[in-house]
Amino acid sequence: MRFYRRLICVYGAVLLSAAVLSLLASNTVKLTARLADAVRPSPAVVMIDPGHGGEDGGALSCTGLKESALNLEISLRLNDLMLLLGHRTILTRTEDVSVADRGLETLSEKKVSDLRNRVSMVNNTPGAVLVSIHQNTFPQAQYSGAQVFFAKTEGSEALAEMVQTRLREGLDPRNRRQCRLSQTVYLLNRIRCPGILLECGFLSNPKEEYKLRQAEYQKKLVCAAAAAITEYLAQREAA
Ligand SMILES: [Zn+2]
Repeated sequence: MRFYRRLICVYGAVLLSAAVLSLLASNTVKLTARLADAVRPSPAVVMIDPGHGGEDGGALSCTGLKESALNLEISLRLNDLMLLLGHRTILTRTEDVSVADRGLETLSEKKVSDLRNRVSMVNNTPGAVLVSIHQNTFPQAQYSGAQVFFAKTEGSEALAEMVQTRLREGLDPRNRRQCRLSQTVYLLNRIRCPGILLECGFLSNPKEEYKLRQAEYQKKLVCAAAAAITEYLAQREAA
């Protein structure tokens, strides 16, 4: 009789251990799945930032065109194409306006507030990837070529390399400019996500300024940028 009791006890203990182990295993699987969800990056939101706007026109081109207007035109084209490619996007402005707080008096106060608000927009958007659109100028007219600057945040350099390469291939194979880490751009220094600033070309170079104003050239430019951003996001998701 004792033998049977012992056998039943041992059998019960084995069953209990099996049940506990299976519970632990299923919990471990659930926990692992939950952890994987937590570390998986949020779906990317491409933040397209047309530089300047409103009272702050940015640089003036050699024919008197405001940089802010060109930045907006190119950004809206980039936004359309990114949406067409199935990406989520947010524009920091969609009209010729500043995004500064209201009630400020001096232009410098407004500029600071405008930039702070752009930083907040980017940092408060989960999964943001910033692409800020600007135009370059220089006192001497001969300088030309698109150039990409990147933030020190993770992923920014890889994105900048891809955009710079696509711009060279798509716009001007003779453009020897390399992408560079930004040391001084307020927005790039303060964001917490990957981000680049694209200087589309030099408004001080008459030939390049003419091209930058043309719809066909703008379309080529945004195609190159969109291809590179798409490539970057695909690689990031696959990693
Ligand atoms: Zn600018």
